[in-house]
Amino acid sequence: MNEWIKLSLPHKSGNEMKWIEEAYRDDWFVPLGPAVDEFERRLQRFLGTDRPVVALSAGTAAIHLGLIMLGVKAGDEVICQDLTFAASANPICYQGAQPVFVDSETDSWNMSPELLRLAIEKRLEVTGRLPRAIVAVDLYGMPARLDEIRTIAANYGIPVLEDSAEAMGSEYKGVRCGLWGDYGVMSFNGNKMITTSGGGALICPDEEAARRVKFLSTQAREDRPYYYHKVIGYNYRLSNISAAIGCGQIETIDSRIARRREIHRIYSEHLADVASVTVHDNVSADYASNFWLTTILIDPACGLTPDQVRLQLLDRRIETRLLWRPMHLMPVFERAPYYGGGAGQALFERGLCLPSGSSLTDAQISRVIEALKDILG
Ligand SMILES: *Cc1c(COP(=O)(O)O)cnc(C)c1O
Repeated sequence: MNEWIKLSLPHKSGNEMKWIEEAYRDDWFVPLGPAVDEFERRLQRFLGTDRPVVALSAGTAAIHLGLIMLGVKAGDEVICQDLTFAASANPICYQGAQPVFVDSETDSWNMSPELLRLAIEKRLEVTGRLPRAIVAVDLYGMPARLDEIRTIAANYGIPVLEDSAEAMGSEYKGVRCGLWGDYGVMSFNGNKMITTSGGGALICPDEEAARRVKFLSTQAREDRPYYYHKVIGYNYRLSNISAAIGCGQIETIDSRIARRREIHRIYSEHLADVASVTVHDNVSADYASNFWLTTILIDPACGLTPDQVRLQLLDRRIETRLLWRPMHLMPVFERAPYYGGGAGQALFERGLCLPSGSSLTDAQISRVIEALKDILG
């Protein structure tokens, strides 16, 4: 019986225990500690930025605090990419605000700048107000058309939060993803580029904002000898032990990014002669995806839906996944305004995510390719 090939598993560097043992030896079990500071410094160095990075308990927490920092409040509207994971949109609702979903363009699969402009104009017409913020996403590691999105947003004076949870190491026009918005989001969930066994980070515009984010993420305790609160706080800071895992993980980040890109290259090369398969690729030289997941589109003319392909691969002990389902098709968001022409839905109906974890061997990738050729060739 063949071994299981999974979509995207955590990949140990081998140095995690050294960091954890150090934290253990020095009794740093508490939420804050030296590993948190060190992890933040290393993230900042990795991004090549002076902007402060605050380590948090999840990417979702980072989105939530980013929206709070941008002043999103009950009754506001926030524009969000339609084709994404629900975690991009849920924190909008935590704030009592209303998500407004904007469809993708078919080349990057991310937010269409034209539809973004249309959505802003329409909301202004309908509500008399501008949306409070824009959540742009770099889906599967592919950068969005970030310069255009930023220019449009700036023309209306609307801030941008870049959800780059899947895009650690991706670059657009030579600048790392996460640095394109007023705030940027990273995720260290178990299936992402690196993991802290659950965690995230918020890239802030300046030190003052970072101090505020740290304050809000540690229960918003005012600096007094007794507990005293003026605003609502959150328990969103990353624990020192989780940060220790992150310090061990980030040591090997460059090779992890290189391996995911290599896996994408192998798939592209070997699936090029399968007529019904198109491997999603960088749109132009401006784009440098980390290829967190290699994704393909399957031509409906082949007679198989992505889900039928998924089930046949599952029989061979190969795990794949359908694309993110557009948010406006979710029962929980069915009343939210949506601007688009169904591009995201069309992608969802044709797309499949292939096993892409950096720990996969060439032999395992070959097995996936052979299976795909057998099913679709
Ligand atoms: C993973 C992910 C998140 C959430 O990150 P968590 O660390 O799991 O909370 C947000 N947005 C996108 C697009 C993601 O893929």
